[in-house]
Amino acid sequence: MARALEPQRRLLAVYTGGTIGMRSEQGVLVPGSGLAAVLRSLPMFHDEEYARACGLPEDTLVLPPAIPDQRVIYTVLECQPLFDSSDMTITEWVQIAQTIERHYGQYDGFVVIHGTDTMAFAASVLSFVLENLQKTVILTGAQVPIHALWNDSRENLLGALLMAGQYVIPEVCLFFQNQLFRGNRVTKVDSRRFAAFCSPHLPPLAVMGTDVTINWELVRKARGKAQLVVHSSMERDVGLLRLYPGIPAALVRAFLQPPLKGVVMETFGSGNGPTKPDLLRELRAAAERGLIILNCSHCLQGAVTSDYAAGMAMAGAGIVSGFDMTSEAALAKLSYVLGHPGLTPDDRKEEADAIREALVPSLACAAAHAGDLEVLQALGDLGSDLSLESFNGQTPLHAAARGGQPGAVTMLLRRGVDVDPRDEDGLSPLLLAVKGRHRGVIELLRAAGACLSLQELEDAGTELCRLAARADLEGLQSWWQAGADLSSPGYDGRSALLVAEAAGNLEVVTFLQNLKGGAGVQAPGPATL
Ligand code: ASP
Repeated sequence: MARALEPQRRLLAVYTGGTIGMRSEQGVLVPGSGLAAVLRSLPMFHDEEYARACGLPEDTLVLPPAIPDQRVIYTVLECQPLFDSSDMTITEWVQIAQTIERHYGQYDGFVVIHGTDTMAFAASVLSFVLENLQKTVILTGAQVPIHALWNDSRENLLGALLMAGQYVIPEVCLFFQNQLFRGNRVTKVDSRRFAAFCSPHLPPLAVMGTDVTINWELVRKARGKAQLVVHSSMERDVGLLRLYPGIPAALVRAFLQPPLKGVVMETFGSGNGPTKPDLLRELRAAAERGLIILNCSHCLQGAVTSDYAAGMAMAGAGIVSGFDMTSEAALAKLSYVLGHPGLTPDDRKEEADAIREALVPSLACAAAHAGDLEVLQALGDLGSDLSLESFNGQTPLHAAARGGQPGAVTMLLRRGVDVDPRDEDGLSPLLLAVKGRHRGVIELLRAAGACLSLQELEDAGTELCRLAARADLEGLQSWWQAGADLSSPGYDGRSALLVAEAAGNLEVVTFLQNLKGGAGVQAPGPATL
């Protein structure tokens, strides 16, 4: 009889192919079936004794205990056919999303086992196709097959299963070499080393070492109880064009012809390209026809700006800045936006304007975060609403506050945006500035009348104690400046002062005592700042 055991977390592992399960045939690697059987034979992936005691079905595997009182049970679903990921397309990625949708209620999380060559494209596409995720979805794969003595397959797959089995990180992620990345921020940078991926503009969401460190501040929060939505109508007629010195205008013209509806144009440096009139003419003509051109940089680091005369922004209307997006993410985003139902395919010009408008909030947020005043100004001058929310409910003011950009904050406030908007998680720009210790921004927001909410003030106690324990004076000063009461108790009833005294953090003790004796532990109101 099956015995009742500790709580279980159930995962579905969708095996699509890739090096991880490949075998050598006539000297070359080809996709290999039977991954579940291999995993069943490896004690690190399957606890046979527990499975028998529990009466688990044949197709179900169970990890050995990782943390007390919880087991990760997983089922491997092998796709037919299996792919070298070089052959995968949007069609297969939408099918993966639909598989997740079909099994969404039965499992607590999902791991997608995928080849590395196009994994960054896959993760980007899935991040747009799967909307309102409440469960973890992690893509992983390997550079060396699991059969090899020295390989990265075991570590990567085990890490992905443990992360998806133990944490709710409700977004599409990619796990590789002990790091969990946001899926639409990665790119493959090495075809040999185990550290195959990097995320040039966003730190990892989590790092697995002796301990697991999760950067919860970066992790997307699930939206209430919203239903999972799978956007299967992704536009296939999108392309990627890499500019190179001397690229002929005729070649660009040929590339930009219908049925192409959108193109990610990889440009030099901070978004520059040749300024030859014939080339610019082709780009303008294509944009006039309604083709969406998204400008992304060849470079791994840095964003598209409008610093140079050779900047593609100078080419005229129709070229939209992709800021710091990877080309993979930009292509996926174009495909998502162009495939969005409700945009009329008859009127290409109107549709193009609508799509540009749809891209504005995230572009404005990116510009505000980077402090790119010229782009913000340009968007504002074009009549774009600078208080519109981007995908996570954040406004450009949130982004400017998070990025510590007083110039952008000033510009946005002058344009009359709401000073206290709340994002999907109820966070305000002021709170984001406090968390980032951006004192100049806090000052500007307070002067404009921003206040922490009652909930934020209530939650502050525990955070203040944590800062006091770490002797983080700047953090405490930021909270004070934002109007928090520094004598608020933490979860155990102790105040920051008591915590600092117990930890012997003299500088913090002096700061808090001075406030108590003089100005008071609560900061003056906005009017006096
Ligand atoms: N060519 C393989 C694939 O992408 C490479 C890999 O998995 O690492 O499927």
